[in-house]
Amino acid sequence: MKNDLLQKAYDPEEFRSMAHQLVDQLADHLDNTIHEKSEKTISWNTPKDEHEFWMDYLKNGDSRQLFPEVLNHTIHIHHPKYMGHQVAPTLPITALSGMVASVLNNGMAVYEMGMAPTAMERIITDFICKKIGYDSNSNGFLTSGGTLANLTALLAARKAKLSHNVWNDGNNERLGIIVSEEAHYCVDRAARIMGLGEEGIIKIPATKDFALDTKQLESYYQKAEENGIKVFAIIGSAPSTSTGIFDDLETIANFSHKHNLWFHVDGAHGGASIFSKTYKYLVKGIDMADSVVIDGHKMMMMPALTTALLFKDGTNSHATFIQKADYLLEQSAEEDWYNLAKRTFECTKTMMSLHWFTLLKIYGAGIFDDYVNTLYDLGHQFAAIIKKDKSFDIAVEPMSNIVCFRYVNKALDNQTLNSINEKVRQALLEDGEFYIVQTKLRGIHYLRTTLMNPFTNEKHLVALLNKIKTLVHPILTQS
Ligand SMILES: *Cc1c(COP(=O)(O)O)cnc(C)c1O
Repeated sequence: MKNDLLQKAYDPEEFRSMAHQLVDQLADHLDNTIHEKSEKTISWNTPKDEHEFWMDYLKNGDSRQLFPEVLNHTIHIHHPKYMGHQVAPTLPITALSGMVASVLNNGMAVYEMGMAPTAMERIITDFICKKIGYDSNSNGFLTSGGTLANLTALLAARKAKLSHNVWNDGNNERLGIIVSEEAHYCVDRAARIMGLGEEGIIKIPATKDFALDTKQLESYYQKAEENGIKVFAIIGSAPSTSTGIFDDLETIANFSHKHNLWFHVDGAHGGASIFSKTYKYLVKGIDMADSVVIDGHKMMMMPALTTALLFKDGTNSHATFIQKADYLLEQSAEEDWYNLAKRTFECTKTMMSLHWFTLLKIYGAGIFDDYVNTLYDLGHQFAAIIKKDKSFDIAVEPMSNIVCFRYVNKALDNQTLNSINEKVRQALLEDGEFYIVQTKLRGIHYLRTTLMNPFTNEKHLVALLNKIKTLVHPILTQS
C-alpha cells in the first residue's frame, strides 16, 4: 500500500504504545475515582461552553491530550459520590472485552461473521433463561438496549397473539397493550411505533406506592374491549424507573393467563434480581412471563449497550421478523439459532456477548448476586438515614437501589418546596462533588438517587444530606 496516512493509522506498533499509555491513564482514573483521590464526580460545564471547548480543541488542541481531556470533561460513574442515573460503573475487565470486540469487529449478523460470540450468546442467554426459571423450550438473544428489546418483545407478542399477520398484511384493527402509568417511557414509544396510537396504550393507575394497581386491571381491560380495542399484551415493570418499585408480577401473570395476553416483563433495571438469593422474591412470577428484558449495562456492571431479551417459548423469538433477506440467510426448515440477524432488530451487531461470557467465566454468576445485594441493601440503609432526619422525606419506602427523597420544611408550602428542591439539584450539579438526579411524582419535586456504585457507603449518604443542607441555606435566604 502506498498511502502513508493509512499505513501509519494501521501501524500495530503505534497502537501498542498508545494502548499501553492509555491503560495506565485509565487505571489511574479508576484509582482516582473509586478511591476518591479526585474530589468531583463532574466538572460541570454549560452545553455552550463545552461545545466551544471541543471546537477549539479540534483546531488547536494537543492530540496527545485527547483522552485525558475526555476524562476531565465527563461524568465519573466510578466515583462513590456518583448516585445518579441507572448506568453501571463498569467492571474494568469489560474495557478489555470491549477492546477485543473493537479490534475484531465481528459483525454477528450471520454465524460466520462471529463464530465465538454467537456461541457465547447462546450459552449466556440459555443460562439467564434457566435463572429466570424457564424450561428448555426457552431461548433468547442480546440486543442494543432495553428500549429496542421492549419494542422487539412487543412485536413478538403481536405476532403470537393475533389471528392475522400484521407483519405481512398490515393492520386495520384497533390494537392495545396494558401498562402501568409508571412504566418507562420507551414502552409508550414502542406502542406508538407499532401504530397503536394513544388509545392503544391502556395505562393502569399506580397504587399510592407507585406499583401497577392490579385491582383495576379487569375494569380497564373490559372497557378497552368494549371500545373495540383488541388487547394483546400486558407489561410488568421490574422495577419502574422513577421510583424503583416492582409491580406484582405474579398477579399480572395470572391476569394475562386468564385473558390470553402476552405477558412481558421490563426488567431492564431490576431483572438482575434473579441472580440474588436475597432479592429474588421481588420478581416472583417472572418465570410465567412470555418475555423478559434485562439490561447488562444497568445492574450487571457492563458497558452500554447490551441487553438480554429472553423468551419462554423460544419459537416466538424466531417468528418476529420473518421476511425475505435471502442473500444473507440460508433457508432452513429448522430454526437456526446461530444466524442471529433473523431474530434481532440489528443486522450488524457488536460482539456484546463477550462481556457477559467474560464476567461469567472470570468471576462467576456470584458476582451479580453480590452486586445486587450490596446496592439494594444500600438503598434500604439510605431510606433509614433519610427517615431519621427531619429535614428530609422519602417518596416511598424503596424496594431496590433507587431512592427518591426531598428536602422538607414545615414552614413552607409544596410549591415553594418544589422550587427549592429543583434549585438544590441544580446547585449540586454545578458544585460537582455529588451527582444525583430528580423526578416529579404526582406534582411533587423529588431528588432521585440510583445507588450504582458498590463503593458508596453510609458515610457518603450522610455527607450528601449535609451537603444539601448547606446548599439549601443560601437558596432560602435568596427567596
Ligand atoms: C432503563 C430502562 C429502559 C430503557 O433501557 P435502555 O437500555 O436505556 O434503552 C426501559 N425500561 C426500564 C424499566 C428501564 O429502567
